[in-house]
Amino acid sequence: MTRPETTRFAPSPTGRLHLGHALAALTAHDLARRSGGRFLLRIEDIDTARCQPAFEAAILDDIAWLGLGVDGPVLRQSGETARYRGALADLSSRGLTYPCFCTRGAIAAELARMPAAPQGPEGPVYPGTCRMLPEGERRRRLDAGEPHALRLDVAACRVAIDDRPLAFEETGHGPGGEHGAIRVEPAASGDIVLARKDLGVSYHLAVVLDDHAQGVTLVSRGEDLFPATHVQRLLQVVLGLDLPRYHHHRLVRDASGRRLAKRDGDTTLAALRAAGITPPEIRAQLGVPSG
Ligand code: GLU
Repeated sequence: MTRPETTRFAPSPTGRLHLGHALAALTAHDLARRSGGRFLLRIEDIDTARCQPAFEAAILDDIAWLGLGVDGPVLRQSGETARYRGALADLSSRGLTYPCFCTRGAIAAELARMPAAPQGPEGPVYPGTCRMLPEGERRRRLDAGEPHALRLDVAACRVAIDDRPLAFEETGHGPGGEHGAIRVEPAASGDIVLARKDLGVSYHLAVVLDDHAQGVTLVSRGEDLFPATHVQRLLQVVLGLDLPRYHHHRLVRDASGRRLAKRDGDTTLAALRAAGITPPEIRAQLGVPSG
């Protein structure tokens, strides 16, 4: 017997939903319904410069059109900043973060100078420049009000958890077909940003806090986010959050094999709907049978 799972669909309102989002929403919805659980919606709108209320309204409309009933209140990340700040303060007071003054250009130049730049699954990762700053210089720059991000000190996190091995359970598959108990490589993404210079929070921090706050037991999302799960599990453990299982799914690609993006206007649900395509036809096209 499967246990009732709480899943979520977590789009950013930066454009109209396309077929890739439909696959994500249908997968999360069906996993919840088949287990007798709950399907939740979260609007990931921390980047207020890129997000628009009109796109949020369109998301709600598209989801309803697909026939997906949402359980419980919709969580909007833009309304949750106090909670994010609390977690950041906690991590910082435990010495698990450091300020990073680097610009993108400075990071690229530093990586180019290194004979062997540190690599993650998605290319070079932050080389740790500001982790190594002498305390006096760090203090001086902070006191001078120099703009900075906050990064997670992954090495300090590992010490904080006695370097015990971490894992997550994958019930779908990663990009390389990974399934089952996945051993976490906490340093794979490097010292990720927890609070951006321009925003008080980053994607990684908001996601783990909200999955916990919403009681998500099975995180269903595209396989492009599989690599991020490693550092997200580390964050969950150091923050003492609930540890969900994961279900990563394939991505929808266009005829040339390229992953769909919001710029591919012709695959938006709005355009398909206007062309007379029905939700059952969308399911059929995506290979997601109903019921
Ligand atoms: N907001 C993210 C996206 O649209 C999804 C975040 C997640 O599922 O963890 O890709």
